[in-house]
Amino acid sequence: MLKVADVECTVLRSARRSVAIFIERDGSVSIRAPQAVSDEQLAKVVEKKLPWIYRNVALWRELNRNAPNREFVSGESFYVAGQPCILDVRDDTPEPLSLMGDRLVLKRSHLPKAEELLRALYRKIGYERLPSIIERFASRMGVAPGRLRVWELQNRWASCSDCGNLNFHWKVMSLPGDVLEYLVVHELAHIKHRNHTKEFWSEVEKVLPRWELAASWLRDNGAGRSF
Ligand SMILES: [Zn+2]
Repeated sequence: MLKVADVECTVLRSARRSVAIFIERDGSVSIRAPQAVSDEQLAKVVEKKLPWIYRNVALWRELNRNAPNREFVSGESFYVAGQPCILDVRDDTPEPLSLMGDRLVLKRSHLPKAEELLRALYRKIGYERLPSIIERFASRMGVAPGRLRVWELQNRWASCSDCGNLNFHWKVMSLPGDVLEYLVVHELAHIKHRNHTKEFWSEVEKVLPRWELAASWLRDNGAGRSF
């Protein structure tokens, strides 16, 4: 941890070559730095970037206003793989957390672990449901994606490797259906076009003419979203 003025930064050193400052998904500030750079040198970099940091943390807060504050009480609604589901907290259920139709059933004694259970469930359901969504769009777009991973991605929703392997954050399973589809199409389009060029966006638009709605939803609501 490095403190500069009133900004606390988590420092992550690795084999990278340059120093980069990030506003993480949870609004915290982190610095990725090469091994050889000292804390004193980092503090100087942060000091120079303070206006940028303040501006972006404020922007994160602004975007994050719309993030739902989860209480894990019966009746609360969650998206699971793009479908709205209602939380049902009960004593008489065998599983700690299970999805039954459009109900998410949570065992009351497991309430303190609700977030952890939900993360695991989203990951499991991601592996079950994403393949068919990916397949549906991949065949329309004429691309052949590689293997799928659903896991904790640093500060991105999804990514596509050079060889076409797809990575999705487990949090994508908490997004509305059209937003989830947009993320899938976005990554599939990267198999044809690595960068966000005009050709890339027209590829997206061919299958999702209304992609801009999903993208702006993500911009306005995505920042602090987890469940
Ligand atoms: Zn992209």
